[in-house]
Amino acid sequence: MEYKTIIEPFRIHTVQAIDLPDAETREVALVRSGYNIFGLHANEVIIDLLTDSGTGAMSSEQWAGMMRGDETYAGSRSFFRFEDTVKDITGFHHVIPTHQGRAAEKILFSVAVNEGDVVPNNTHFDTTRANVEYQGAEARDILTPGGLDPATVLPFKGNMDLDRLRSTLDEADGRVPLVMITVTNNSGGGQPVSMANLRDARVICDEYQVPLILDACRFAENAWFIKIREDGYAEKTPREIAREMFSYAHGATMSAKKDGLSNIGGFLALNDTEMAQSARNMLILTEGFPTYGGLAGYDLEAIAVGLNEVLDEDYLRYRIRSTAYLAETVSAGGMPIVQPPGGHAVYLDAAGLLPHIPAHEYPAQSLVVELYRAGGVRGVEIGTVMFGRRDPDGGPDEPAAMELVRLAIPRRTYTQSHIDYVAEVVIDVANRAKDLRGFRIVEQAPWLRHFTARFEPL
Ligand SMILES: *Cc1c(COP(=O)(O)O)cnc(C)c1O
Repeated sequence: MEYKTIIEPFRIHTVQAIDLPDAETREVALVRSGYNIFGLHANEVIIDLLTDSGTGAMSSEQWAGMMRGDETYAGSRSFFRFEDTVKDITGFHHVIPTHQGRAAEKILFSVAVNEGDVVPNNTHFDTTRANVEYQGAEARDILTPGGLDPATVLPFKGNMDLDRLRSTLDEADGRVPLVMITVTNNSGGGQPVSMANLRDARVICDEYQVPLILDACRFAENAWFIKIREDGYAEKTPREIAREMFSYAHGATMSAKKDGLSNIGGFLALNDTEMAQSARNMLILTEGFPTYGGLAGYDLEAIAVGLNEVLDEDYLRYRIRSTAYLAETVSAGGMPIVQPPGGHAVYLDAAGLLPHIPAHEYPAQSLVVELYRAGGVRGVEIGTVMFGRRDPDGGPDEPAAMELVRLAIPRRTYTQSHIDYVAEVVIDVANRAKDLRGFRIVEQAPWLRHFTARFEPL
């Protein structure tokens, strides 16, 4: 007998209380934080969908693994369990632990990328872009046509535009040190990349003798989308699919805070021995010895267990389905969203909801603030605040490609009633869209300004 309800394939073992701040407390918190939700304190948030990064619940097996943590400085047992797991899943020869994903990026780009280089990516994540630009190189997003249109329904909207990959490699002749593909495409709606796209990108990279590096943060979610959407993969396991995805790359950066099902950690994996040696030298300078890389032995254990648990079919089916459930509910209630829903998050289309707020008045920021004000739900702006270009002469920002609010779903953390509450808040705000107003920035940092900027309502 097949029932249609897909249940959480786990039961609750430890609980943590949620604070329920009232409307007045929330208003005070907004003013104090300069209308920047990064300034809110945990006790001021009811449902926290700021990020799926490091916010998931660990399993009892992971906690048990942590008790096995071996804190030996050099050559700890925990490192070798971690290394074996990463090698088994990815097939890469060199595994370099880091304290999180951006440390892997920083190390990779400081050994491989020079001033004046161009790094193509389907879409750079914000830290990836900042780390490329910090080297004096250009971070170029070359997403498939349609990938940026919230309403277009395609199975693999995260694909790289391979014609533009070729033209970039021709035009920037010799100045492309590596090509990156982000699975799934976080900043572009959590959309997956097809196996065919990875395979074809690799062929082009080989032609130009440029390494292909995966930003693998959500490799398991991407593998599940390939299983359910791409011809020829329905019978394959997520592990087999992931292994094939990695086989087309020369290396990967990874944040274990996503599909590592852990609260901290990451790695850089590479096949090239010389590059791995340079990366390890840099690792010692900035992170730690190559058998711990800024992590405790117990963190390495939690990641090793998490990387295997994340490939479980029951988990992935529930994970992708529960995100789609929130998307379908708010969409039916009148909130425009990026279609089809991504793996780890629902992306609300603020430009579609708030046509009366121009990009330089930050419509997605306005929506983020209102979701918090209305129901204590914290999402995050992924629009002109995060990705818009500042005018050096103080004029309006050059707008980002999309004005989105991301509601990221922490892994194994919230139940269906939490998600039903979120949907109710989102639909309430959608019904009041015409009353929302824009914002202006009164204080901002030179890069990654979204973390610390202060705003004023218009
Ligand atoms: C989170 C993330 C990163 C950076 O990882 P951190 O662990 O936050 O440093 C890089 N790329 C993508 C696609 C991400 O989602």
